[in-house]
Amino acid sequence: MSSELVIVYHRQPYEEHVDENGNTVLKENKSPNGIVPTLKSFFGSVDHGAWVAWKLADDPDNPAFEKRIEIDDSYGKYSVSRLPLSAEQVREFYHITSKEAFWPILHGFKERYNYDPVDWKNFQDVNRRFAEAAAEEAAEGALVWIHDYNLWMVPLYLRELRPDVRISFFHHTPFPAADVFNVLPWRRHIVESLLACDDVGFHIPRYAANFVSVASSLFDVEIAEMNRVPDKWISDDTALIERMLPSAVTHQGRKVAISVTPVGVDVEFIDERTRLEATETRLAEIRSELGDAKMILSVGRTDYTKGGIEQLTSFERILEQNPDLRGKVRLMHVSVSANTGMTAYEEVQNEIEQMAGHINGRFGRFDWQPVTLISRAIPFEQLVAYYRAADVAWITPLADGMNLVCKEFVASRFDGDGVLVLSEFAGAAVELGGAVITNPYSFKSMDAAILEALAMPEDERRRRMARLRVAVFANDVRQWGPGSLSLKRSLLQEVPAA
Ligand code: UDP
Repeated sequence: MSSELVIVYHRQPYEEHVDENGNTVLKENKSPNGIVPTLKSFFGSVDHGAWVAWKLADDPDNPAFEKRIEIDDSYGKYSVSRLPLSAEQVREFYHITSKEAFWPILHGFKERYNYDPVDWKNFQDVNRRFAEAAAEEAAEGALVWIHDYNLWMVPLYLRELRPDVRISFFHHTPFPAADVFNVLPWRRHIVESLLACDDVGFHIPRYAANFVSVASSLFDVEIAEMNRVPDKWISDDTALIERMLPSAVTHQGRKVAISVTPVGVDVEFIDERTRLEATETRLAEIRSELGDAKMILSVGRTDYTKGGIEQLTSFERILEQNPDLRGKVRLMHVSVSANTGMTAYEEVQNEIEQMAGHINGRFGRFDWQPVTLISRAIPFEQLVAYYRAADVAWITPLADGMNLVCKEFVASRFDGDGVLVLSEFAGAAVELGGAVITNPYSFKSMDAAILEALAMPEDERRRRMARLRVAVFANDVRQWGPGSLSLKRSLLQEVPAA
């Protein structure tokens, strides 16, 4: 059965487990929070949807699983095309090309970019297979919604196979300016592919403006529409603010919409979780453990972009220069290791562990340990209790497409208290002017922000939190969607008779 909506996302839309009889069982994601459940929720708007993802196979030509399965779950009816890829293909396409070459460039870390091991042909082959699977699933005039940089070449191949479909591409990461992006030797291929879309989407105006400047550095592209960025996104002076937004370009006679749709969080779900009795119980336990110490909470994946090392160095300086804070403040540092076996992440993990040990050794006492380091993911039900218990949420990535943790923190604070210290290089900073905004590249700015947060009087904390909650609640995840290409329009579109 063909589908009106085809989502192309590298991961499968459920969790796979092996039961006691050795059979693989598919389970809905435990929490409806996160990108996969958000994307699946769009299947509720169509009669039938499709999802294209990869799945590891010992022998990709002869996989030991069905390539295409039908799912009927609480999100709707949809088929899942599972592209069998070998471990080597995954390593090259995902861990090397995407994570070692694209990821550092997208986040502005030229010095971490690793070109030599990239097998561009493999990347193209894998992307072509995603395009072929999407082409097979899509109904006439369907909307194909492709996600993230590891699928950059899909639009070009899909456009060749299916000129009739509408293609929307969303970047979950930052998009850098031409000086950085053009380090990629495959820049023309990538941008040509993106220009084959009907809509190219980003979290914030800056990334959209950067994309347009990159495109015009490589091709004859004209800006077809320019709009002023809405006031709500330019009210504060932070590094990622942009005032004008190119919202469409033309290239070779085709118009490509450029859209900005910052993803939000499921505020209803978070609010519900936060008010549960189990959360209250856990909150009381955490508070009693803290005694009268204040808690600073930092949550993120272990990645050099997340700024974990910069936070720990700031925390050490703060304890060194403010002896009165010793014994009075605790940092809970959740740095979830991705377990990819990639050297770059292992190095960051080791450094974080060493620094946390060093700070604890230098300042800790029998009755007080300044840093609690957690490297395992905390289940979301428990994370909300930490969000509630925190006096300060300290979210200071060096670069981050959006950052959902800070929005979750705000959504969980129905008590109206708590301070958010947020890096001006997180996409979320554009929406969250109520935060204490800091620059993680500056020692002075980092230290001053956390000291300001710890000393902030209650009335100011409440004023800022109220402002933050207005922003987070106004942009609930339900506001999000495939850019300028609405799903409804696709359903109303006339389908030519067969
Ligand atoms: N998260 C979690 N448990 C943890 C740490 C993180 O459930 O111990 C979740 C968190 O709630 C958030 C997501 O992981 O939904 C991280 O998203 P974010 O956009 O902040 O960062 P990303 O990892 O996507 O760069």
